[in-house]
Amino acid sequence: MNTIDTLPSSNAYAAPRAPWARMFLVLSGLLSVYTAYRIYQHTTAFTVGLDYFSEDFQKYWMTLLYIQLPVLFALGAGIVGWIWHTRDRNLDRLAPAEELRRYFVLLGQLMVFGIIAYLTASPVTEADAAWHQVTVRDTDFTPTHIMLFYFGIPVFITGAVVAFVYARTRLPQFAKRLSLPFALVVAGPVMIMPNVGFNEWGHTFFYAEELFAAPIHWGFVLLGWATFAAGGLLVQILSRIVELTKVAGSHPVIEAMQGPEGKQVTRRNESVKAEPAVAA
Ligand SMILES: [Zn+2]
Repeated sequence: MNTIDTLPSSNAYAAPRAPWARMFLVLSGLLSVYTAYRIYQHTTAFTVGLDYFSEDFQKYWMTLLYIQLPVLFALGAGIVGWIWHTRDRNLDRLAPAEELRRYFVLLGQLMVFGIIAYLTASPVTEADAAWHQVTVRDTDFTPTHIMLFYFGIPVFITGAVVAFVYARTRLPQFAKRLSLPFALVVAGPVMIMPNVGFNEWGHTFFYAEELFAAPIHWGFVLLGWATFAAGGLLVQILSRIVELTKVAGSHPVIEAMQGPEGKQVTRRNESVKAEPAVAA
């Protein structure tokens, strides 16, 4: 008994496709920018980046800061605004196949977010730690701070907010209720920014030296740990994907079955719909 053979072509179920090409495009774009920035830092940090009050520092580093902040803000606001503007206003009529496709897009976004989190929290932050061990800060603006706090962290925040708003506007599981792990994943990087202010205030008045175990640094660690909540978020996403993959698709499914006299009949089953999801 072959069900597929009995399906008219207009009802054929097409499996949703994961957005691999777009994901790798975004990733390669991000990696190029991070690499170019790192090369720029390597070539200029020790030559023109040691003295905030020098003309060269203003030219090579402060100009970069003044350009990158508005560009990142406009880019982030533009992407989030576009996701909100194109939101799904009929989520109650969402077909399971389309919902599944959106989960693939969300997983792609979280993958990009994970790589941004790694790049920002590991190589860029370690570069700042190494910088503090060999130079003395003269102001809050150093070549490593400009890359970490005013480029890396804003990109980190944007990555989290984009995924959150996408899920909130396109997936019933996240639109109806607030997912606690997802909220933590977003709140962590966002709250790092106030901690940056607290840290700089502390360094100005209490710790001229960079004591890594200083209480003003605890917030960075704690807020970085918020990304561990991504584990809980993945459980929520995967449980819903499991439910959705049990549903044959958004089209009416034609089931082939044996009739009472043993001859094959077909029956339309229009009521195929996944159970509503429960978000924590
Ligand atoms: Zn620092």
